[in-house]
Amino acid sequence: MKIGFIGLGHMGAPMALNLLKAGHTVSVFDLSSSAMETLAQAGARNAVSPKDAATGAEVVVTMLPAAAHVRSVLTADDGVFAGCGDSATIIDSSTIDPTTARDMARMAEDRGLTFVDAPVSGGTGGAQAGTLTFMVGGTTEQYEHVVPVLKGMGKNIVHCGGVGTGQVAKICNNLVLGITMAGTAEAMALGESLGIDPQVLAGIMNTSTGRSWSSETYNPYPGVVSTAPSSRGYTGGFGTDLMLKDLGLAADAAKSAKRPAFMGAIAQQLYQTASSRGLGGLDFSSVIALYRDGASVAK
Ligand code: NAD
Repeated sequence: MKIGFIGLGHMGAPMALNLLKAGHTVSVFDLSSSAMETLAQAGARNAVSPKDAATGAEVVVTMLPAAAHVRSVLTADDGVFAGCGDSATIIDSSTIDPTTARDMARMAEDRGLTFVDAPVSGGTGGAQAGTLTFMVGGTTEQYEHVVPVLKGMGKNIVHCGGVGTGQVAKICNNLVLGITMAGTAEAMALGESLGIDPQVLAGIMNTSTGRSWSSETYNPYPGVVSTAPSSRGYTGGFGTDLMLKDLGLAADAAKSAKRPAFMGAIAQQLYQTASSRGLGGLDFSSVIALYRDGASVAK
């Protein structure tokens, strides 16, 4: 299949590589020339604009930081809508608000195109291994149409409901993730200050009721999980500023639904403080630095 892929960051680059490995013909576009170069070496065609990447593509995947990027990449004069031929399908895997996803779907439909939201969970490890979970919002027919493409990048492809519901699922998941990571960081740092070996503490949590993905797979304490960003200076994972964005999406959604989101609000303040202290570009598990006495993230 001919696929256009836009957004070759921590997640998008390995996802596009997996589409190439699955035998698709892939045209890529990113603002970063080094990201483009990596994909070109793996066999992708470098496009000069989102429009160019979308030209001739049956499916276009976008993996961009936030809603404003998705809106501009799709709707600009040199954007995806301008390049798509009749009946192309656009899959947006970025984490954005459901309202923008529904707007994009309406605009796509007006042009005879299809738009589905398909945000992911599984982190950069899942993106590399091709084991992501995709949360798809669209009609049953649209969902069935995109499954074969998404299977090249993920393991669990879940139909959440109509367009926008993939983003609803993702926002609710990341609300829990932001809270559990902050809680795990708080507990790990407290344990350290009270004199227990962090490795022993994590082992107890992971065989007890404190266990979560944040404690087991992605523990924020350096050295506890060798493959976690905390063990490589908090690089190459899910940025603090991206978590801050997602908790902002959850807060906005809670406000519009007139529902409380107490824990999310506290977690949002923690990541905002972390960001203001220079941790915005590092993995969100670096929030633990707020709890550790005089700790730099490298400690
Ligand atoms: P990233 O910042 O590493 O990558 C974003 C990429 O988009 C960058 O390469 C950037 O150059 C590119 N970009 C920005 N504006 C562009 C434009 N106008 N045209 C073309 N390219 C443009 O982000 P990421 O970690 O890959 O995350 C991407 C999305 O996936 C975000 O919405 C994030 O919330 C979500 N997400 C990330 C993770 C993770 O673990 N990193 C996990 C799940 C979901």
